[in-house]
Amino acid sequence: MGKKYDIPLLKDHHTHTSIYASLINCIDLSAVRDKKKALLWMKKSREEITVIIGWNSSFYYFEDEELDCLPPVIICNISFHDFLINRPARERFFDSHKEIISHIGDGDWVERNLSAILKFVANIKPCNDDQVRSFFDGYLLKNGIWYAEDMLLADREIVNIFQRIGYSERTRFWADIETFDSLDSEAKKYVHGIKIFIDGALGAKTAALKEHFSTGERGILIYSDKKLSNTLMQLSKLKKPVAIHAVGDLATDQLIKILSDIQKTESCIPQIRIEHVQFISKESAETAKSLGIVLSMQPNFNNDSIQYADRLSAKYCKCNNPFRMLIDEVGYVPGEDLIFGSDGMPHGAQYALEQSLFPRYADQALTLEEFIAGYCMPDQKNGYIEIEIDEAEKNIKTEIASN
Ligand SMILES: [Zn+2]
Repeated sequence: MGKKYDIPLLKDHHTHTSIYASLINCIDLSAVRDKKKALLWMKKSREEITVIIGWNSSFYYFEDEELDCLPPVIICNISFHDFLINRPARERFFDSHKEIISHIGDGDWVERNLSAILKFVANIKPCNDDQVRSFFDGYLLKNGIWYAEDMLLADREIVNIFQRIGYSERTRFWADIETFDSLDSEAKKYVHGIKIFIDGALGAKTAALKEHFSTGERGILIYSDKKLSNTLMQLSKLKKPVAIHAVGDLATDQLIKILSDIQKTESCIPQIRIEHVQFISKESAETAKSLGIVLSMQPNFNNDSIQYADRLSAKYCKCNNPFRMLIDEVGYVPGEDLIFGSDGMPHGAQYALEQSLFPRYADQALTLEEFIAGYCMPDQKNGYIEIEIDEAEKNIKTEIASN
């Protein structure tokens, strides 16, 4: 028998509420390791357009011929940074979304236009009041999550839905620049901050690492130094927080160097979060800490050192998510300037706790106290999670309880 604790429900600082809510009924391949089974599920779909989530390229790739004979299908890589659209779906959307359809196979273009692609996917079946309710209460809450930030507001209507159903306290909206600019001044007030991407993801082999992926690909830095600096200076005028997606060490170095110049000027940004930060040098982390930059990280991604060992060198597997360095050596404090979320990969307490307490590498470990400080609600008034930690078996059982 393991040790038992009650912890508050989770406060997921990074997920994609509007996208996942709209995709809640989609086929999810994240646990499907057999390509034949995946293809069979798609073939059997009776949807007009089938959107698939969770495809993991470390399990298998699809051939064009395998997909083109299916009904219209759009497949999202588990990272949401790589997409496959079969011929029938391309024909279907060619007139309405010519740019996206023409460039969807071009990794570089995809990274530079990711927000537009994600909004396109989310709006194929836009979510409604019931879907948001069932996403929060039927899905997130059952997995131990009370509050979940939306890192990419898909549409103005999402704000209306949350207001209408009274769930605004359970989220916070971040929008990309184009969406933000398109909103009316009332809606702008509900947007907490602006989100930008400066590199790709490990799942799509586009995260900007200092070395090539071991399979040969080179990650993508979306901005030149000058362009990034100008973009951030422009954003500072909005006086809103800014969240910046940066996974690879080439990206985190680039960003922190530029921020260290900007934050010393008058046009500094009120609050800066770096999202993911899976690879960061101690030197950059120290600079980030001194600038008051918040790191928003995903303990779930400790497992990337295992699942993406097919593309990361041993050195990179080992320095993914260096929580001990950040906390013990640089002085980051969970709950203050180090916060946690899931990115929906997957959502929930059980997996996040297991990855935090029993990671592959010691430097990735968090204590239960650190996990609670960085990942939980401040109190148990909305419910709590009963957890049982089995140190010997390295597993965790969770049970969601209400007051
Ligand atoms: Zn994300």
